[in-house]
Amino acid sequence: MICRMLFRSLVLFVALTPACGRGDEELLIIHEGDLPIVISAPHGGTIDLPDVPIRKGEGLKKGGAGFFSGRDGGTEELALEVVKRLDEKLPGAPSCVISRVHRKYVDFNRPPEIGVEHDKARTIHDSYHQSLQSTVRRIREKFGSGLLVDIHGQGSSATTVFRGTSNGLTVQGLRMKLGEESHTGEHSLLGLLKTTGWKVHPDPFSDKEQSGFTGGHIVRTYGSHRPDGIDAVQLEFGADYRKAAAREKVAGELADAIVQYAERYLNVAPATSAR
Ligand SMILES: [Zn+2]
Repeated sequence: MICRMLFRSLVLFVALTPACGRGDEELLIIHEGDLPIVISAPHGGTIDLPDVPIRKGEGLKKGGAGFFSGRDGGTEELALEVVKRLDEKLPGAPSCVISRVHRKYVDFNRPPEIGVEHDKARTIHDSYHQSLQSTVRRIREKFGSGLLVDIHGQGSSATTVFRGTSNGLTVQGLRMKLGEESHTGEHSLLGLLKTTGWKVHPDPFSDKEQSGFTGGHIVRTYGSHRPDGIDAVQLEFGADYRKAAAREKVAGELADAIVQYAERYLNVAPATSAR
């Protein structure tokens, strides 16, 4: 009960960035938890940034890791629901950094030279990454390892969830410490999700990830291949997983898989009593 109340109070603390001039608007949802788990969702937002022009991407390469301004519908809500479920199921609270701003103004999963075209957008881009960086560093220092799940949407296959780890690079710490099974076995995060009935890729859970879905700027910046990183997994959800009618079920199943992962690989036991 205490933790749930703690979560409610903290997740409602929205990181306002006064320099952005939004006043009482919520731009980022940042929650500093006490577990070695952080949820990121950079592309689900719908809020307009006043006085900031829509990005045009002039002179930038389009597609792939280049310029794109379409949002990942439903991922802000899905990420929040996952955070809430984890808070209920675990003896503590996860951290989260979730954007409420539309991607047409700022892209947090690109470096600023691609994702930002205005000073105000740069300020909020910096806030997102400063929050993620400090959370990841704190988890690394306190626990030695941890899990970052970066939640996205893709339009290639409505029924599929693609994993992106730069073909195992961004979970290098996990693989070196606990073996390849932790990344490609039946009890890996992808293996646990398949057990729930999800159609996942890659399957079998090899390192050969789908071109275009191999993980972006966030997992490559904060993954465990970095000296101060933690294991980082990008999940690209098809439309069937992001629609409102499926949200509670999908969030519950993802949270259950993360709980099992945390128990096996992060020494975090599930909550033993109803809270
Ligand atoms: Zn995305």
